[in-house]
Amino acid sequence: MKTCMICEKGTLAAVEDIILDVSGYVFIAKGERCGQCHEEIPYEDETRRMINAAKKLGVWPEPLKLYRHLSRSSGGLILRIPSDIERQLELDEHGEIAISKVGNKIIIETEG
Ligand SMILES: [Zn+2]
Repeated sequence: MKTCMICEKGTLAAVEDIILDVSGYVFIAKGERCGQCHEEIPYEDETRRMINAAKKLGVWPEPLKLYRHLSRSSGGLILRIPSDIERQLELDEHGEIAISKVGNKIIIETEG
């Protein structure tokens, strides 16, 4: 029996009903579930299968690194959000975001 690497107390049991939700699409995967903390760990090939299916549906959020130039208006610097990120995060001009600075990175989080 394998011990859970999350809580290090429970044991992992094989299950076939792990529910993975990707942008509203629900995938059922095989994997293991901890009897203690109920952490679910899908098998790696199941995860890959799910990612491939999600990619075909166009819902898999790819890790994106995009390069953009800043522009300036009278109000200050302007950063344009790429349209695929806009779509994936369902942003619009009425939404609010939180901006934080971590070292030399700027993290933009969607609110709510
Ligand atoms: Zn656990």
